[in-house]
Amino acid sequence: MCIFCKIVNKEIPANIELENDDFLAFHDINPIAPIHLLIIPKVHVQNFQEISPELMSKMTTFIQEVAKKMRLDKDGYRLLTNIGENGGQEVMHLHFHLVGGAKLKWVHLSDLNPKEAI
Ligand code: AMP
Repeated sequence: MCIFCKIVNKEIPANIELENDDFLAFHDINPIAPIHLLIIPKVHVQNFQEISPELMSKMTTFIQEVAKKMRLDKDGYRLLTNIGENGGQEVMHLHFHLVGGAKLKWVHLSDLNPKEAI
């Protein structure tokens, strides 16, 4: 069973911020900003490429609720999901990183010169 499924099953602890029947939002153990939550479906979905539009629709509503609960909805935040090897996905259970609480920087994402690649 994957580590996030274990968090869903309460087999390993997490600092949970919001939960409903289908989704869970908990704090990342290695935050990259003052607020850094992970938002996951309770059912095991490998990554964004595999989620159904129906579940993604419900997940959108849940993510918006989490942003409101964290009072990020007015000032803004960043939402991102890593997909597969090139995307840098380490945990193979779909999760959105919801990051905020400060003015975020935009970073270089690869060592390649974007103007020369492809
Ligand atoms: P990714 O590289 O997109 O797969 O991100 C995985 C994220 O999961 C990383 O930001 C980790 O810090 C985070 N993480 C891994 N294990 C745990 C855990 N047990 N509780 C909370 N966050 C975790």
